[in-house]
Amino acid sequence: MFAVHLLSFYFSKLQEDQIKKVDRFLYAMRLSDDQLVDISARFRAGMEKGLSSESNATAAVKMLPTHVLSTPDGSEKGEFLALDLGGSKFKVLQVKVSENGKRRVEMESETYPIPEELLNGRGTEMFDHVAESLKDFLQKKHINQKRKALGFTFSFPCGQSKIDEGVLLSWSKNYKARGVLGTNVVQSLRQAIDRVGGINVDVLALVNDTVGTMMTCGYDDQRCEVGVIIGTGTNACYMEELRHIDLVEGDEGRMCINTEWGAFGDDGTLDDFITHFDREIDAASTNPGKQLFEKMVSGMYMGELVRLILLKMAKKGLLFDGRVSDALRTKGKFQTKHITLIEQYKDGLKNTREILTELGLSPSADDCLAVQHVSTIVSFRSANLCAAALAAILTRIRENRKLKSLRITVGVDGTVYRTHPQYPKRLHKVVRQLVPECHVRFVLSESGSSKGAAMVTAVAQRLAAQRRE
Ligand code: BGC
Ligand code: MG
Repeated sequence: MFAVHLLSFYFSKLQEDQIKKVDRFLYAMRLSDDQLVDISARFRAGMEKGLSSESNATAAVKMLPTHVLSTPDGSEKGEFLALDLGGSKFKVLQVKVSENGKRRVEMESETYPIPEELLNGRGTEMFDHVAESLKDFLQKKHINQKRKALGFTFSFPCGQSKIDEGVLLSWSKNYKARGVLGTNVVQSLRQAIDRVGGINVDVLALVNDTVGTMMTCGYDDQRCEVGVIIGTGTNACYMEELRHIDLVEGDEGRMCINTEWGAFGDDGTLDDFITHFDREIDAASTNPGKQLFEKMVSGMYMGELVRLILLKMAKKGLLFDGRVSDALRTKGKFQTKHITLIEQYKDGLKNTREILTELGLSPSADDCLAVQHVSTIVSFRSANLCAAALAAILTRIRENRKLKSLRITVGVDGTVYRTHPQYPKRLHKVVRQLVPECHVRFVLSESGSSKGAAMVTAVAQRLAAQRRE
């Protein structure tokens, strides 16, 4: 299964030794087929634990109801505003859905930087900044006359008892604003909008980015019933049978479940697979003990994992003649975007040399090869782990529907998936190997997380109008 092994075929004996040395050192990160099947089964059990009312309270995988009852049917239309907070960028958007009778989505967007101190400061200040950015956008685009419906993509675990409510259950990634945990973020946004003033909008829906991604992709492809994000963080959602969702009344039809798979392993389920590098990452994070799967997979941590590995290897004399640099000792100096450059098809090795030199090291040709191989093992493990969890979701959907084979589309977004040259290919291949009974189409849903907020808002608006009639 591992392209990692095949690579060595093209290398000389000396180079091969280099690869083997890394393989031995990172033995625990190279997951076998059997291990992936095992991880997939553990995630499957985790999903069931999260869905059941008896075990939900203590479940690591939270399986949150989203109150999104169907994927788009093409009848959605109108002009909406969307906010997208919690991914690699904070964005404000105007989304036009199907203005001229055709299935079309047009959007205009602006990215607004969020100063670091707002992520760690008071929640009210963060929401004020969000509202001020929205106001700036409305003024710039001259769109404040008519009252507009707004969808809020908020990429953190939220408990929702309806579509326009979300109680923040925990922060993840690098967010930790104070006073937000346990409160309704829709209300906080509405209050900030009132404080800032002069903003003519109704906040109608709160949407996780995975849900937005699924909905955007579902607008073009009726078969899209899974959304995956592999970016700064990682997560997935899918359409589950209501009869299996204990926390929500009703047995007919389906509802989208936000799995929050990033927290897989927080109850010890992945302990056999967690390496001491993963433990180190966790210990230095803003949320120790939380989001353990995310820390093995997502863009916020992958670069740092490689740095820790290189540092350890150098200290053991396995790299750079045993020399380390200050940069290599510094948290955050090696980033996931460097992995992306290092694994480029053609320029990979040249990029590796440049990046290492930039870090104050003087790598030999063998060092460059070894570093490239370390990157490959770390990014491949990430794709393997996502594939294992995704395989569990696909199997669950297939069994829910009592099908021998399932044809389904998975919408994917996120910086890692979008920018790493080999990640998508590897993910697709491993998923297909793990669930041969599922015919999976993967669709990159560019800006899916933001556009999808508009889709959900369109539906929410229609339902709200129906209620008023
Ligand atoms: C959050 C999820 C989100 C994912 C991708 C995770 O840290 O908990 O809600 O979907 O990141 O952005
Ligand atoms: Mg139910």
